[in-house]
Amino acid sequence: MIGTSGTAGDERGPTCSRAQCGGAAAWNINWRNPRIHGIDRVKVWLACDEHRDFLRDYLDTRGFPVVVTELGTVVSSVGAP
Ligand SMILES: [Zn+2]
Repeated sequence: MIGTSGTAGDERGPTCSRAQCGGAAAWNINWRNPRIHGIDRVKVWLACDEHRDFLRDYLDTRGFPVVVTELGTVVSSVGAP
């Protein structure tokens, strides 16, 4: 299930969640930690083109379900059974 509501940004516009980057975000990295988050909980990082794969892999290697979508596209759940 995918919606189109916007994500929170500041006056400078959404920027990449990667530390020290600050690049313009182009992607939503939707993820969840199954150990502490319920199935209906979705955490969202923002990523620029350069760091999209880095952030996705960072979460994936920790065993967290991850779904990458275009910026502003939100999902209602991640890793749903
Ligand atoms: Zn970046």
